[in-house]
Amino acid sequence: MVVKSTIMLLLYYVPICLVIFGSFSSVPLLFFLYLLSGLGMAGIGMGIMHDAIHESYSSNKWINKLMAQSIHLIGSNREMWRIQHNVLHHSFTNIQEHDEDINAPGVLRFSPHSERKKIHKYQHLYAWFFYSLMSLNWVLSKDFVNFFRYKKKGLIPNKKVRITTFLSFILWKTLFFVLFLILPIWFTSYPVYMIVLALLFMQFVTGLITAIVFQMAHVMENAAYPLPNTSGEIENDWLVHQLQTTCNFSGKNNFAFWALGGLTNQIEHHLFPNISHVHYKNIAPIVEQTAKEFNLPYNNNGSFGSALYQHFRMLKLLGVK
Ligand SMILES: [Zn+2]
Repeated sequence: MVVKSTIMLLLYYVPICLVIFGSFSSVPLLFFLYLLSGLGMAGIGMGIMHDAIHESYSSNKWINKLMAQSIHLIGSNREMWRIQHNVLHHSFTNIQEHDEDINAPGVLRFSPHSERKKIHKYQHLYAWFFYSLMSLNWVLSKDFVNFFRYKKKGLIPNKKVRITTFLSFILWKTLFFVLFLILPIWFTSYPVYMIVLALLFMQFVTGLITAIVFQMAHVMENAAYPLPNTSGEIENDWLVHQLQTTCNFSGKNNFAFWALGGLTNQIEHHLFPNISHVHYKNIAPIVEQTAKEFNLPYNNNGSFGSALYQHFRMLKLLGVK
């Protein structure tokens, strides 16, 4: 975790510092450096802050608290992520109206229980564009929208937390744009529109990578979308529910496992979110064997490419029926 955190933080900061202080004038180099920072941003999200906010980065709670702050470095907010991801997504995985990860905006349909519109017929073609907006959306607007929604739902009952969360939005998001927009405009000879385009390019890449990785865990043909019974209860055991609704991919690819913060092993992550992702590869054979013994699903969708194709097919399927 320490090596990965160091690499990801350097990957995020070194290229943008080179942009600011490097006195370069090459446009491809500008885009390349922003791309590297974008990869670092995705790496911080998947490999550092995700574990830290689950309190699984370290057994020391102060280290978890410190590393959880890394979400602020990438322009988002710890408390908003904790509610959407740890509380809503992990407790109510793939349950319509509760898991916000499958509550897509109108043009996208991620659940067989949500209303189907004519436009969804083409979502397998245009979904990727919206995926690429995900990171920018978190930085610019989603935290604000979620803040007011969660406040209304009573999910942020503490007034002090509400105030500090909102002030933290303003501070960290401003710093993000100072570093990636204002300073490059100020210190380099690139035209303003070129810096804006490079920043957008970086955000598109970060958004696309992270959205695809998260989507391939749950929006798949072999993932279930259980509904509550008339008393509002999910009839399965929570662990069984996690096995039914979650999928793994890239099982044999050690680099993908390392670079994507263990999110290739989402089954193990969903069963044991409080265990650091570095252990998932060791846990996986035990989980798979146990699932087999109890005749429960263990959804493994093969390589990254194969899982991506299956996600594409699932988008197409959800668009037509
Ligand atoms: Zn998680």
